[in-house]
Amino acid sequence: MGFAKEYEFLTEIGIEPRNSGAFVNGVWKGSGSVVSSVNPANNKTIAEVVEASSQDYEEGIKACYEASKIWMQLPAPKRGEIVRQIGDALRTKLQYLGRLLSLEMGKILPEGIGEVQEVIDMCDFAVGLSRQLNGSVIPSERPNHMMLEMWNPLGVVGVITAFNFPCAVLGWNACIALVCGNAVVWKGAPTTPLITIAMTKLVAEVLEKNSLPTAIFTSFCGGAEIGQAISKDTRIPLVSFTGSSKVGQMVQQTVSERFGKCLLELSGNNALIVMDDADIQLAVRSVLFAAVGTAGQRCTTCRRLLVHEKIYDSVVDKLLEAYKQVKVGDPLENGTLLGPLHTKASRENFEKGIKVIKSQGGKILTGGSVIESEGNFVQPTIVEISPSADVVKEELFGPVLYVLKFKDFKEAVEINNSVPQGLSSSIFTRSHELIFKWIGPQGSDCGIVNVNIPTNGAEIGGAFGGEKGTGGGREAGSDSWKQYMRRSTCTINYGSELPLAQGISFGN
Ligand code: NAD
Repeated sequence: MGFAKEYEFLTEIGIEPRNSGAFVNGVWKGSGSVVSSVNPANNKTIAEVVEASSQDYEEGIKACYEASKIWMQLPAPKRGEIVRQIGDALRTKLQYLGRLLSLEMGKILPEGIGEVQEVIDMCDFAVGLSRQLNGSVIPSERPNHMMLEMWNPLGVVGVITAFNFPCAVLGWNACIALVCGNAVVWKGAPTTPLITIAMTKLVAEVLEKNSLPTAIFTSFCGGAEIGQAISKDTRIPLVSFTGSSKVGQMVQQTVSERFGKCLLELSGNNALIVMDDADIQLAVRSVLFAAVGTAGQRCTTCRRLLVHEKIYDSVVDKLLEAYKQVKVGDPLENGTLLGPLHTKASRENFEKGIKVIKSQGGKILTGGSVIESEGNFVQPTIVEISPSADVVKEELFGPVLYVLKFKDFKEAVEINNSVPQGLSSSIFTRSHELIFKWIGPQGSDCGIVNVNIPTNGAEIGGAFGGEKGTGGGREAGSDSWKQYMRRSTCTINYGSELPLAQGISFGN
């Protein structure tokens, strides 16, 4: 049976009604469970996938490990050329991939296309980087000696990704890992297998065209079992994990037990502070975008809005007015701002969260309910609550915004820093003094510290990631590439003396 008309476009990116979910040494197979990829807007099956089994994993990783030895010998700019071709292949399929992303994850179409564009941008960034993996020369204190710092590939990099950015996070990691000379083994989220398959097919085609082993980019559809296999595998020196703090901590422990390296991108609980001198229109527009976008399922979603007491009522009133205009609906339809939550379980989690909020004294100012429909739609919600309520310290993965009142800058920073997570933060102010205090040692303790822009929308040129419960990892731009390589400090003696051994006789 073929696809219904609305899903026919999927064949353009290699998706069939039933798909094998393990890309093992250039062959698609799968001997694990059969799962359905489901459209969050109506909970109907889009296509089926046969997940990878442990056996598929073992076969795939073996080939990937062998392929890494070939890939790491290719000069870095040549690896960059392959990544450039991947970027070009993505450009030709941008609309289809963006549409699939929107269909399978549930984010609105412009966000789906934007996410694929981000991978294209990462390819461009990585191509430039492939000529700049520079080491350094360090003055030696010993005569006729030279010290060098060299960067070498790690081997195989494991990438485990979350459902909410099923292809951008792969791009942040894989583009850099590949130009650094590593093979990549990727496990996407179990609820977004079609994106995993479509992306892998596109990369495989480029590798094949260049007569390179396709096992350089190996991928598996599956859940915790495959994730654990990656975490335990001593053939994978670096595991880059994106997901919840709870699972991230387990992964870190497993990887640490074998002295592997971990790059963690975990949960966020991001605050946006509005000072009394702020441009209120700008702040309100930013909050709406940051709290409602991707149905509140971004790691950088604004979850806590901290408003100075002097302007509190006016900011909240304007926000309530803006929320009335949010169009909820099918993410593929023009004009929709708020699509569904990703799964039925996410919708149940939202309902549970609202109950907890109420039990801890939270007052619902708008929203607070699920929307009766076939899909996983919920209302955009604003809650007035005390910053000390326990529920405020947690990440509720949906469009729920807590509004909190503060008296002065010091108190606002204290509230900002009072949660276990440390991903993104933002302040709206016109005061230069406060801006520099905010980005300084006693300001925000987050990895992303913004001024007069929302908590989300990070650019790829900067290093992305957060502190504390967010895991401390940095991905994408700046010098994040160093995490995907091993550093060798090399001391070279080009004379005939061994200064440290002077005065000791070794005979002839
Ligand atoms: P999750 O932790 O449930 O799953 C993430 C990945 O881990 C999935 O691929 C899953 O199959 C896998 N996994 C599950 N159990 C595992 C185990 N025992 N060992 C190894 N892997 C295992 O997260 P999610 O619900 O997919 O994503 C949402 C979370 O991700 C949120 O907390 C969000 O903030 C976070 N996130 C963070 C960033 C960031 O850059 N900081 C980006 C995107 C998402």
